[in-house]
Formats: sequence, structure tokens, C-alpha cells
Amino acid sequence: MKYVLVSGGVISGIGKGTIASSTGLLLKTIGLKIIVHVSSIKIDPYMNIDAGLMNPLEHGECFVLDDGGEVDLDLGNYERYLNITLTRDSNITTGKIYQHVIERERKGDYLGKTVQVVPHLTDAVQDWIERVARIPADDSKETPDVCIIELGGTVGDIESAPFIEAMRQLKRRVGKGNFAQIHVSLVPVIGSEQKTKPTQQAIRDVGRAGLVPDLIACRCDQALEKSTTDKIAMFCQVEPEQVLAVHDVITTYHVPLLLQSQGIIEALDSILNLATIPRSQKLV
Ligand code: ADP
Repeated sequence: MKYVLVSGGVISGIGKGTIASSTGLLLKTIGLKIIVHVSSIKIDPYMNIDAGLMNPLEHGECFVLDDGGEVDLDLGNYERYLNITLTRDSNITTGKIYQHVIERERKGDYLGKTVQVVPHLTDAVQDWIERVARIPADDSKETPDVCIIELGGTVGDIESAPFIEAMRQLKRRVGKGNFAQIHVSLVPVIGSEQKTKPTQQAIRDVGRAGLVPDLIACRCDQALEKSTTDKIAMFCQVEPEQVLAVHDVITTYHVPLLLQSQGIIEALDSILNLATIPRSQKLV
């Protein structure tokens, strides 16, 4: 099983969900050379158990899955982009994972140990992800090969800290070649200048949490100038090819093309080595 984590810095609502769905779509249709089954998990670092009782004016509509799960609307994007059917467990919230750990504690599963955020909650997040990632999501009923994990919120927030730590540990647990991270950042335009400082700061924040993103996706009102890409690459210790520009488009269905044209599949392939997927089937 291979994982692609999509995290975000600077501010929320900068297109993590769109980039995560688009990446999944590209992996699924990877030049039609290999059949890749893709699934997805959304982490929402809020205390609500699910989106059922949340005010739609605050968080957008609640999306209802086939199994009756009332979840974040991003899950609807995943189902539409990837043509998959997800389950209520595909949406992890802080409330849901704490409830799970507390129920286990009440049953005595921890054998009298002091139950802590690290390692018990972080282990529970990783076990949950590894279990749910393997649930068949498309019509083939095959076990997925790649799971896209979207971490809601912003890295650096108190709320997302246990999940970030769980992701750091998951990267070690699944081993090299099985985990890639895309960090989505914002490049504001002040006057006529594209500002890179928020992105530099966002990469520092995620680095402090022990994660080094493989790709930096920059949301910007306009196409990124080469000098902006080079500056981000230089100060974030990556190659310019690892900086993806995601400017505002008329419809978000253009985002997969935008990412594809910048070589996201080749970049992910070089990290995840998709040809090693056991059932990979050459079509051409
Ligand atoms: P997040 O997951 O970070 O909260 P979303 O993917 O839900 O962000 O996107 C937030 C809003 O921005 C949505 O309404 C989405 O349609 C829009 N959006 C995302 N990416 C783009 C883009 N490249 N161009 C224009 N609108 C976008």
C-alpha cells in the first residue's frame, strides 16, 4: 500500500481537497500504462464525531455516503473525481478517534497502561488508516494500491498536531518508497510581486514537525513566475521541479491538467515507484 499525504500551510481553504482529488485522479489514469486502484481518507481535526450536526453555513454541506455516514463534503469530491464509494470510516475526526481510543480504554484494552496522545492516539490513527486504506473502493472490488490522505486544517495548528505526528510515524512505518507528501501553500500577490515568505514559513513549520514534503503545491491568483518558483525551491531546499504552481482556474476540473502538465505523475512515480505495485497491469 502506498500513501500520498496532502497537507496544507499558511491558511485553510487553499485547495487541498481539490489537489488531493486531482492527484488521485491522475494516479488512477496514469497515462493508461498501469491500472492503479485509488482510495482516499480525509482527516478533519475537529471534535465533532462527524459532519451530521454541523452548520452548513460554517463548513459547507454535509455529504451523505452510501453507508449513511454523514461526512465532510470533500468526500463527495473524492467519490466524483475517482469514481469510488467510500465508507463512514474514510473520514477521521478528532472526536471520532478520541471516542475510539476512550472506548478501548473502558474495555480495558490498554491493560492498565496510562493512555496518552503519543503513542496510543497516534497509533490508533495509523492503524485506522492502514485498515481503511485497504477497503475496496471501486467497482473492481480490488484492494486499493494507493490511498490519498488529506489532512484538513493547517500544519502548525494545535488541533492538527497529533495527526501530523501520526503521519510522521506512518511514513516510517510504511517505509521508503511507500509515502509521498504534497504540501499546499499560498503565494499571495502584493502589488505586482508574488510573495514567497508565507511558503518558506509553512515549509519550516512542517519541517519542525519532522516531515519533509516531496512536492510543494503553491496556490496563487496568477501563474507563478519562474523567479518565484526558483526562490521557493532555493529557500525550501527542493528542486524547482518539486514546486507545482496551482493558479486560480475557471473550474476545478482543470486542476488535474495543471498538475499533469507540471509532471506530478513522474514526480510521484519516482518516489513511489508505481511499477512495483504487484498487480500492475500493462495496458500499452
Ligand atoms: P481545502 O481542502 O484546502 O479547504 P478546497 O479544495 O475545498 O480547499 O478548496 C476551497 C475552495 O477553493 C473550493 O470552493 C474550490 O472549488 C476552490 N478552489 C480550489 N482550487 C482552486 C483553483 N485552482 N482555482 C479556483 N478555485 C479553486
